[in-house]
This record gives sequence, structure tokens and C-alpha cells, in this order.
Amino acid sequence: MENYTLILKKLKKINVITLLLLSNITLANINIENTPIPGGIAVVDFQSNHSNPKSFYNNVPVYTQHIKGQHWQALIGIPLLTKVGEKYITIKGLSTQKITFTVYRHHYKEQHIILTGKNKKYVNPNLKHMKRIKRERPILSKARKLFSEKSLFNDQFVRPVKGVVTSPFGLKRFYNEQPRRAHTGIDFAGNIGTPIHAPADGKVILAGHFFFNGNTVFIDHGQGLISVYIHMNKHLVKQGQLVKQGDKIGTIGQTGRATGPHLHWGVYLNQTTVSPNLLLSVSDEI
Ligand SMILES: [Zn+2]
Repeated sequence: MENYTLILKKLKKINVITLLLLSNITLANINIENTPIPGGIAVVDFQSNHSNPKSFYNNVPVYTQHIKGQHWQALIGIPLLTKVGEKYITIKGLSTQKITFTVYRHHYKEQHIILTGKNKKYVNPNLKHMKRIKRERPILSKARKLFSEKSLFNDQFVRPVKGVVTSPFGLKRFYNEQPRRAHTGIDFAGNIGTPIHAPADGKVILAGHFFFNGNTVFIDHGQGLISVYIHMNKHLVKQGQLVKQGDKIGTIGQTGRATGPHLHWGVYLNQTTVSPNLLLSVSDEI
């Protein structure tokens, strides 16, 4: 009898552990087309006997989802500067496995911008500005690197504004012929004060004014999927606030390094800027 009780106790313990593991599983599924190019998202399917396997790309945790009744899927954001060729992710479950995938070439357009007058401070910032930039860098970096276990939304993204797209994702930029990094988001033109809406449910992890970005909001959608809104006239949400798809989070402005009023919308996946288009439902694609 004593042995039986002991076995029951052990079984209960196992059940508690199983439930804990299950509660961490991402219930939401995002349906994303496999786009294994720099700035794209590689969709890699895998099998696992573990109830909650974790995937990593270059040691960074990757968005991992379970396709009900089928298999697991890793959604890997590929940095714009990635060299084409074979890459791999590491899956940590009951054992560790490596899965390879190939990144293909993609050509993005070029844009040359001439900055004059007051905008010059953004090309050659003075010492005071440099100090501010240095102070803000780790705050922005921390927000980009956040990885919360649970997915916070269960739907595809919708466009944050209705404005015209003035700069697409991946555009190769030159300011006064100085090459800068490629455009890491989508720019929407719009009048100052035009409302900006949350494209999906999430949690505001950063809201404030920054030197280059101006008025900025970062929304965490879970598992390293983070959307950012910069150059806003006003931000209307606070850090820690939960937002629903469609909620007003701010308005279009011209704060920070901006040549005209617009919204710069960026999306991060495993700390990497990816084309926000890939998250939108087909009818809403830009
Ligand atoms: Zn932009």
C-alpha cells in the first residue's frame, strides 16, 4: 500500500511537470510564407518528442510554434547582411539536433538622400548628441533583444496606418552620398496627427523620445516578435500597457531623423529586422 501511494505521488509530480511544460507552449500559430532571403523569414519544419522544444539561430532564441497534430516550426528572421548559403538552427528538446536551411540572394533597390540645414546634426552629431546617442543605445538594444516565452497574439498583422509607402523595406540608402545601412522598415507618408494603430495584440515594452528615432513605441508580440514605430508626433501608450489589434498607439510625426512627416514601421524577429510585409495577411500586403 505504501508503495502504491508513493507511485501515485510520483505520478502526480510528473503530471505537474507536464502541465508546466504544456502551459509554456505557444498556442497561437502564425501562417508565414517561407522567404529564406536576407531580411526574410525562413520557415523550418521539424519533429520533436519534447513537449516544448526550443530553437536557436546563432545562439539567439527563435520563434517556435506547434502546428496542431503535425509538427513543430521555427520562424527564423534572417539579417539583411547575411551571406547566401547554407545555415542551421539548433533545436534543444530531449536531445539537441541541427537542422540546415539555405539562404538565397535578393536584390533591394537603392536611394540617395541629400540632407541640409537642421537635419545635418543627424549626419554629423556633436559631442552632446553623441553622449545622448550612447546613453540611448543600450535602452533600444534591450528592447530589441527581449524574448518573452508566450506568443501574445493569435492572428495576422494588419497595417498600422493607411498612408502611402514612400520607402520599402531593404532599400539601400545613402545620406549625402555616405552609405548607410539598408532601410530596416517600411515608411508610410501621412499628415502630422494621422492615427497609428497596433497591427496585432501585444505589450508595450518601450515608449519614449530618442535622438534618431524621435517619439518611439516598441510592442512585444511574444517569442522575439517585436514591432516598432518611430518618428511619431505623439505616443499614446505607456510602457507595460497591453494593446489589442487596432488600438491607437500614437500619431504620425517628424521627430528624430526624419526628412518629412512619416511613420517608420519595423518588425524584429530573433533580434533581426525582417520585412513587415511577411506578417501581414495577403489582403493587407503592402
Ligand atoms: Zn524608415
